[in-house]
Amino acid sequence: MTDEFFSRAMQLDAADPLAGYLEEFVPPADDSVVAYLDGNSLGRPLKSAQAALADLVTGAWGTGLIRSWTDGEDPWMNWPERIGDLIGRGCLGAAPGQTVVADSTTVMLYKLARAGVAARPGRDEIVLDRDNFPTDRYVLEGIAAERGLRLVWIDSGVEDGVTPDQVAAVVGERTALVVLSHVAYRSGWLADAEAITRIAHDAGALILWDLCHSVGSVPIALDAWCVDLAVGCTYKYLNGGPGAPAFGYIRAALQAEIRQPIQGWMGRAEPFEMAQGYVPAGGIRSLVSGTPPVIGMVPVRAGAEVVERAGIEAIREKSIALTSLAIELSDDVLAPLGVRVASPRDPHRRGGHVTIARADFRSVNERLWREGVIPDFRAPDGIRLGLSPLSTRYADVVTAIDRLAGLLR
Ligand SMILES: *Cc1c(COP(=O)(O)O)cnc(C)c1O
Repeated sequence: MTDEFFSRAMQLDAADPLAGYLEEFVPPADDSVVAYLDGNSLGRPLKSAQAALADLVTGAWGTGLIRSWTDGEDPWMNWPERIGDLIGRGCLGAAPGQTVVADSTTVMLYKLARAGVAARPGRDEIVLDRDNFPTDRYVLEGIAAERGLRLVWIDSGVEDGVTPDQVAAVVGERTALVVLSHVAYRSGWLADAEAITRIAHDAGALILWDLCHSVGSVPIALDAWCVDLAVGCTYKYLNGGPGAPAFGYIRAALQAEIRQPIQGWMGRAEPFEMAQGYVPAGGIRSLVSGTPPVIGMVPVRAGAEVVERAGIEAIREKSIALTSLAIELSDDVLAPLGVRVASPRDPHRRGGHVTIARADFRSVNERLWREGVIPDFRAPDGIRLGLSPLSTRYADVVTAIDRLAGLLR
């Protein structure tokens, strides 16, 4: 059965307009990797990132030294906005001046959510869903406790995700903020961000989208959808490297009324005056708190550049083809072995990964890793096949599922 799929995958790879991008990634140093299907958790390193990191150490850091913060054409001080604008342009549908790179996703999420609820005084509810990523739920639980707010939970399904109807049923005049993931980390459900944003606005609430699992994989149009606030990871489909900083977005029209809670010197006007009292820098810069993570931003820039060059529409087209192939293979080869697809079958409601499930998948995943086939496991019983269009081949999908079927037999 898989022979037929292998030859089809070879043809798809041969005809793939994005196939050449694989060459731009650093190859593994040994043959321990048979198929890497976890780019949705940690994207692979780019050769351009490797070169830029080496250049930074000898050049801007080793030679420019402290001067590199402020001197030259591309001073480090401006990187949060510069690289933010690059991500905004290539991935977010965001005009310049609305995106910065800083902090971890968790911290950025806290800052934006905390600022969002403060911008809707008199409203005391935050809407979120049960299957949102744990850090999102925990951060919002903390903000609710801190501010005396009530959490309104949507019971999203583990195998699908939040719908506009579910949001419409719970928002109202008490809703300050709605916080949801654009692509669900577990099922891969792609929420209708435009419709849900409109519903939140009709209720007078602000919306905060978590784009961790969609940025660099699914086209996003923050400006056109009128999104208020957004946050996302750069180490997943943007290949920014382990622990790379997050990005945060605040719609231009809202920036004057949004006041983020971690008032640090790097978001202040004239930071080197070392003056008394915090005065926001103004614009999106006010979202920055401390010293920009320069080293961490080097691979982020390389990753965002390659996504922009490849084009998010082309990436999405291949992503749909990859996930469709994974589902077709699962139905054909794995379903007879008791595996079910735990992701949306409608490609318009599916992001860049496919989750398949069986009761013993925790231990099966460990065995797969030992064989060099590397997806990841998500409790209770799911293996996520993360398919990164710039570095995943169709043949990788077939190899992984063929090996998995071998283990299950
Ligand atoms: C990966 C991910 C995070 C990670 O947050 P960190 O602070 O970078 O650990 C947060 N939210 C979602 C939805 C994610 O997928």
